[in-house]
Amino acid sequence: QAKKHGKDRFEVFEPAMQEAFQEHIALEADLRRAVVRHEFELRYQPIVHLHTGEITGVEALIRWMHPDKGIVPPMDFIPLAEETGMIVPIGEWVLREATARVAQWNARREGPPLTVSVNISAVQLEQAALVHVVDSALKSAGLAPDRLVLELTESLLVDHRAATLERLGALKALGLRLAIDDFGTGYSSLAYLRRFPVDIIKIDKSFVDDVVDEPTAAALTHGIIQLGRALELSTIAEGIEHAGQLTSLAGGNCELGQGYYFAEPLTGAAISDLLFP
Ligand code: C2E
Ligand code: MG
Ligand code: MG
Ligand code: MG
Repeated sequence: QAKKHGKDRFEVFEPAMQEAFQEHIALEADLRRAVVRHEFELRYQPIVHLHTGEITGVEALIRWMHPDKGIVPPMDFIPLAEETGMIVPIGEWVLREATARVAQWNARREGPPLTVSVNISAVQLEQAALVHVVDSALKSAGLAPDRLVLELTESLLVDHRAATLERLGALKALGLRLAIDDFGTGYSSLAYLRRFPVDIIKIDKSFVDDVVDEPTAAALTHGIIQLGRALELSTIAEGIEHAGQLTSLAGGNCELGQGYYFAEPLTGAAISDLLFP
């Protein structure tokens, strides 16, 4: 009886697993083709000064323009790109493309030059070549290093090998700034602030979501902002969708923010229209 049950379970599971496996293989082949054929585009989400409403920079966010599936969001292929190492060439392309584009805007712009924030995966940080790649991207783009922000997630910083710390130091020595993305969602956010040479805290959207309706979220959010201030770090609130959230964050003296309330991630052409009407 037990054996029969086991066999039934096997039969129930196998087709689904088989399908998932084949899908995974197909996606991997697709992604390899995408890297060769350059099927990626960047969107740029404005980062604004919460008190003046001025755009101070943009975050570059990748999209895969899949020939059959349409636009594939990063969450659906970045993990696979990390597993297979394809994130290394993809990430290099993102760095080069984003720095070049923002340098072009800055050359035309009258106001203060924009910053560009680029998300960096743990796999990229493992590469000794990353420092050279970033330096080379900045130089070919003609972008001042202090206009570049590299966004690192807390999960990435869980790995606190000496090499990681050394690499972050070498990146900072180029003159760029480091941000902790999705701050507050990791296991030991506060410890990272002591250990890593961070310049910017990005308050995770999950705090911003509830900042108006939930006293606990509000207290934590305002606490993070004050912590940033005490450590002389800039704070950026992520995922602002409503005026009420803006009021609460600006009232708490959060310096910068981004979210659908201001603008969604936009194509380069749409950002150009916004900057040069
Ligand atoms: P992230 O760096 O935390 O980026 C913020 C995400 O929140 C983006 O999703 C953005 O479109 C979304 N967002 C911004 N404002 C709002 C809002 O008001 N409401 C809501 N609901 N969402 C908002 P996206 O573009 O899908 O990117 C997801 C994640 O994928 C990013 O999270 C980042 O971790 C990763 N990612 C994106 N581009 C790259 C890349 O070039 N390289 C690497 N390694 N990761 C990337
Ligand atoms: Mg980010
Ligand atoms: Mg984030
Ligand atoms: Mg995120």
